[in-house]
Amino acid sequence: MNDIDYIPIAALNQYSYCPHRCWRMFCAGEFADNQYTTEGTDLHDRVHTFSEGHQEETWQIRAIWLKSERYQLIGKSDLIEAVANRLYPVEYKRGQKGEWDNDELQVCGQALCLEEMSGQSVTQGYIYYAHSHQRQLVEISAELRESAIATIQAVKTLLETGEMPKAVYSQRCKGCSLYSQCLPQATDKVGRYQEAN
Ligand code: SF4
Repeated sequence: MNDIDYIPIAALNQYSYCPHRCWRMFCAGEFADNQYTTEGTDLHDRVHTFSEGHQEETWQIRAIWLKSERYQLIGKSDLIEAVANRLYPVEYKRGQKGEWDNDELQVCGQALCLEEMSGQSVTQGYIYYAHSHQRQLVEISAELRESAIATIQAVKTLLETGEMPKAVYSQRCKGCSLYSQCLPQATDKVGRYQEAN
């Protein structure tokens, strides 16, 4: 078991999507691009350039690091905005809103960091979907906070123990860039054969 200093905020997103994928990325150091991740990386390369300024009444700062000592979280923000001294994070995503809530957890992780850094409560955030040019409001509700904190604990355990969660085939595998390394259906079949014999 290794003691870890900080948990990458992005790992909350990956763990929520698939614990096995999170293990591959953050414990085994694997990554593979597909169309979705390439577009996502290009998008983040564009937004991960520091800038600060105003857009009418809204103060904006891009590409700053967010950190929480309390939750051992760290990550680079795409955009932090403030209107009337009310701060909130904006996370950029390439596509449209998916079926899963993993992006909301990532925004909540950023909000937890922002609260600790600013001493203000953060009650909302946004996900900006580049294809539709639309923002989705994320309410930092008690339920989302609870879910984010539970995910932080689960990721911490994963990173400290390095134990590989089982790959379980699901609808999510269809959009997963690690499919060809993971081969979850084949792994399932081998596992079932072993259990039966
Ligand atoms: S292919 Fe499926 S089980 Fe494997 S890492 Fe991706 S989402 Fe997880």
